[in-house]
Amino acid sequence: HYNFCAGPAALPAPVLERARDELLDYQGRGLSVMEMSHRSPEFVAIAKQAEADLRELLAVPDDYRVLFLQGGASLQFSMVPMNLLGNGGSANFLYTGIWGKKALAEAKKLGFATHLAGSSEASRHTEAPQRADIELAADAAYLHYTANETIGGLEFDYVPGDEEGGLHRDDGKVVPLVCDLSSSILSGPLDVSKFGVIYAGAQKNIGPAGLTLVLVRDDLLDRRCERIPGLFEYRAMAEAGSMINTPPTFAWYLAGLVFQWLKRDIGGLEAMDAINSRKAAKLYAAIDGSGLFSNPIALRNRSRMNVPFVLADERLDKPFLAEAEEAGLLNLKGHRSVGGMRASLYNAVPEAAVDALIDFMADFEKRRG
Ligand code: PLP
Repeated sequence: HYNFCAGPAALPAPVLERARDELLDYQGRGLSVMEMSHRSPEFVAIAKQAEADLRELLAVPDDYRVLFLQGGASLQFSMVPMNLLGNGGSANFLYTGIWGKKALAEAKKLGFATHLAGSSEASRHTEAPQRADIELAADAAYLHYTANETIGGLEFDYVPGDEEGGLHRDDGKVVPLVCDLSSSILSGPLDVSKFGVIYAGAQKNIGPAGLTLVLVRDDLLDRRCERIPGLFEYRAMAEAGSMINTPPTFAWYLAGLVFQWLKRDIGGLEAMDAINSRKAAKLYAAIDGSGLFSNPIALRNRSRMNVPFVLADERLDKPFLAEAEEAGLLNLKGHRSVGGMRASLYNAVPEAAVDALIDFMADFEKRRG
């Protein structure tokens, strides 16, 4: 079976096998990682190794903190403004799909000033705004965007900042970039220094649900609002090594195994990048070459991780999904808000899965198209 789920997504088989082997007895300690104190030397070593491996994979500069939090990427929709708007100013957003819209709505709901700095709405979210179209507010405190919109399948083909970790405001001040990388982090190399804050829910390319990864540059730790819950403070979490309270220990451990798999089995993010490009290119070529399937996204913004497609005749949706499942191709149904199909091709989805999907689609089209 191949799992094309958008999240929680497939995990690499070697990771699951190792977790299975260690489930009851972690390296001869006589207990499961799930049963360890988060303050035990064993778990602290697991946590530190995971951070070190992630830092190595992404070449995270020393002036960034790596936080292992809870609450999903959705909680970052509120934590980001609470941590970055303490000195005033507005939260600026690029709106390229459902997740970015939710992030904006959450900041607004909390009473923060917001500003729409760019949008792909006119294209019905098929083409991302160009750099020249971005208009920051005069009081912009940060610019938030979604690198890859998981539902619409729209991925930025550039980082909207410049070399100094953000964009320049009209008055010359640098506005840090905040990026929701939930569905594309670790899909390839990333220049972390271009961002002020990066966050990602774990359940796609990092590990199981329940863990949220946040990277935050040191100089941004002092912009928090005064009256926010202690657990929501980046600074407090950074100082406590992400252990103010009990962290999601098992998810953290599994994320560490995924980082090791990326390093050792795959050979790092350059290698992962090449595999992901190949997987996505094949599937888009099959879609474009077919008379039955189509994808509306501008070529430069086609997501490598989430490939939505529709069938020319909606009445074929149900048989397509049923037959796909019979063929062992799971979770191809598109998000409930947009319908159609979606194949998520995260890191753990092997190239053979894409080949099997392409063969199945061609066969289905021949029979039913
Ligand atoms: N942002 C993006 C881009 C996502 O794809 C998702 C979930 O799919 C979220 C945010 C919300 O993540 P979570 O469910 O971890 O809150």
